[in-house]
Amino acid sequence: MSAPVVLATRNAHKLAEVGRILAPYGLAVTALPAEVVLGPEDGDTYAANALGKARVAAVALGVAVIADDSGIEAAALAGRPGVHSARFAGETATDADNLALLIGSVPAGSPLRYVCWVAWVAPDGEEALFSGVCDGTLLVPPRGEGGFGYDPAFLPDRDGVHADATGRSMAELSEAEKDRISHRGEAVRAFARWQVARSVDPPR
Ligand code: IMP
Repeated sequence: MSAPVVLATRNAHKLAEVGRILAPYGLAVTALPAEVVLGPEDGDTYAANALGKARVAAVALGVAVIADDSGIEAAALAGRPGVHSARFAGETATDADNLALLIGSVPAGSPLRYVCWVAWVAPDGEEALFSGVCDGTLLVPPRGEGGFGYDPAFLPDRDGVHADATGRSMAELSEAEKDRISHRGEAVRAFARWQVARSVDPPR
């Protein structure tokens, strides 16, 4: 296994998810040291926010770093909350506050999309970006104890078809099932394939 790559996040769920997704590729992640200050996520795009976090950490630590930025997009809200998903119900909103606001703002059964972008930044300034999406619909009432954030109200599509309300929410899937279909799974696997190919055939 190669040296672990730092994941620039303060979200323990993300650290665990990304670690699980990378493991089959012989890659590992390690937590961001407490002294590194990431700054506000105030970019207009997921890519800008992910790059912002990874750049700050790569410069502070002098090693390659990855960071992700993700969100949920509701068709009924023209793609909101999107990059603002973590603060949908306000600057100090909890996951429960954000989930309640989504349920109050979007009709049950209407389309949702999770989006994730992963940025890799090396201390010499080299950068790469990877992305993934996961489509679904709003499940009311929410169900399940797994995952985090909006997962209890996210009913993933099955084979590209909207599931009916008897299907399992993202929070009712096992970790492995979520990783297989999730936006973060898709983006992190794209990074992993790139990283593995690069270690076999490094840039000159
Ligand atoms: P950020 O990527 O740390 O900015 O977080 C984005 C927001 O989207 C957070 O409020 C998360 O709760 C939500 N979010 C991102 N990915 C997921 C997921 O896999 N499940 C549930 N919520 C998510």
